Amino acid sequence: MRAAVVRELGAPVVLEDRVDPEPAPGQILVRMEASGLCHTDIHAVHGDWPVRPHPPFVPGHEGVGLVEKLGLGVTHLEIGDRVAVPWLGWACGRCQHCLTGWETLCLKQQNTGYGVDGGWAGSMLAWADFAARVPDGVTAAEAAPLTCAGVTTYKALKVAGVGPTDLVAISGVGGLGHLAVQYAKIAGATVAAIDITDEKLELARELGADIVIDARTDDPAKVLQEHGGADAAIGLAVDNASFAAAYAGLRRGGRLVLVALPAQGTIDIPVFETVLNGTSVIGSIVGTRADLAEVFALHAAGRTRVIYETRPLSTVNEAIQDVLAGTVKARIVFTP
Ligand code: NAD
Ligand code: ZN
Ligand code: ZN
Repeated sequence: MRAAVVRELGAPVVLEDRVDPEPAPGQILVRMEASGLCHTDIHAVHGDWPVRPHPPFVPGHEGVGLVEKLGLGVTHLEIGDRVAVPWLGWACGRCQHCLTGWETLCLKQQNTGYGVDGGWAGSMLAWADFAARVPDGVTAAEAAPLTCAGVTTYKALKVAGVGPTDLVAISGVGGLGHLAVQYAKIAGATVAAIDITDEKLELARELGADIVIDARTDDPAKVLQEHGGADAAIGLAVDNASFAAAYAGLRRGGRLVLVALPAQGTIDIPVFETVLNGTSVIGSIVGTRADLAEVFALHAAGRTRVIYETRPLSTVNEAIQDVLAGTVKARIVFTP
């Protein structure tokens, strides 16, 4: 099988021929059908974050495919089942985080496409207990973006506690943001979508955004305040300055949820205003297996639309450049 491998951080990804790996006990071999390109993969390839991945590794944490081999002890999946392999590749199941519904905070977790090889390949290994079954009627190409972009934004809206009378700002309408707009609408909120390209702003409108804000020409904070201020703002733009704008657009009691992870990301928060306004700033990392099951169920019920374009895995380096240039519609999904 072919795999897209990071041999050196910051260098182009290399295509290599590899033999299929053998599943260890508790693992499965998945024959890939589709695998998304999340902006996190670009951060991984570039080594953008304080905790760096160790080459060689295969990126990809939106991998979807068919179970081809079962490791010892795997009884709840069958050969031929369609599964998705998310960022949370494994968690211990025993620590306080795992036991209280916060497996995404497990200190022992293994991350797909970062600490262990991911889905940009013809096949991959996954821990059976953390591979999500994809419901019938959801295609592999649609399931892929839901596996990270979907579950991450669904969870971010949950932690923001969004309700039907809220004004929710979605900052960044890319892979994550185009789904965030839809989950916020499903929660009944009024949605203000912020981006810096005409295509993304138009997409946001198409997906139900009530207000669109072009951050190139308008100050998002000012526009949000003209609407009374946002009850919640979800930071999905890979741009440090966008967090400050989202923060300044909040109303009293507002919640800013940080999701995007730009290199050297920081946010300066004035203590006085944060205290007096009762503002919350919350970090949110992907979502649990239960969250992902809900995301798939919503999609199977016809309540979300996944906007994507498929490209062959062999075009991975060009695809990365196109995401950075902002010229892809929402998500690129690779076919192996
Ligand atoms: P993307 O490139 O598809 O989307 C980013 C969007 O932000 C683009 O539409 C871009 O035009 C827009 N943008 C850029 N600058 C802007 C600005 N100043 N104001 C408004 N919009 C702006 O990326 P993605 O795949 O959606 O990922 C977004 C970020 O989220 C990445 O940093 C990624 O690593 C991170 N991420 C975090 C988690 C998590 O669990 N916290 C999970 C997945 C991805
Ligand atoms: Zn744990
Ligand atoms: Zn991701």
